[in-house]
Amino acid sequence: ESIEQTIERLGAVIPDYPKPGIVFRDLTPVFADGPALRRVVDALIAPFEGQFDFVAGVEARGFLLAAAAAYASGKGVITVRKPGKLPREVFSESYSMEYGDSTLELHRDDMPVGSRVLILDDVLATGGTLGAAARLIRKAGAEVAGFGVVLELGDLGGRDRLGDTPVTALIAY
Ligand code: 5GP
Repeated sequence: ESIEQTIERLGAVIPDYPKPGIVFRDLTPVFADGPALRRVVDALIAPFEGQFDFVAGVEARGFLLAAAAAYASGKGVITVRKPGKLPREVFSESYSMEYGDSTLELHRDDMPVGSRVLILDDVLATGGTLGAAARLIRKAGAEVAGFGVVLELGDLGGRDRLGDTPVTALIAY
């Protein structure tokens, strides 16, 4: 079975969640399957092997992938969080997404200036979330080595919002 087939088989599709008109792709069953989780994490790291010093995860589902990817590659994990969760000085970036506006925060001193950071999340939709995460990493003086997502919703144009930085998606709709 290919990784696309595994994600397709295990992933759930929920119409009208969290709002009417939104079709939500739920990947928690992929994460709950041991062999699938391992393959997903390995496939997200592989294109960026040797090109990153840290793995950043976007709260909350991105944390699962980022922690696993960081552990598997022997790197540290960075948390890109919702407002008010980080206890020290932060950078903040606001953005809009499919269902509302939001803000993300990053500790100002989580990594040395010039660090190369791989940013992971579960789904790429409009690209607002990963775009904001990238701005935070760059504000902190680090470089974005690339973006990795399990699933890309292609018709929302998210990839175009992420500029020239490489994006790996394991399955696209
Ligand atoms: P974007 O900012 O690219 O529009 O939306 C991506 C963010 O919203 C990600 O953090 C992702 O977790 C969440 N998201 C948007 N649509 C979906 C979806 O269909 N399924 C899941 N699991 N997350 C989604």
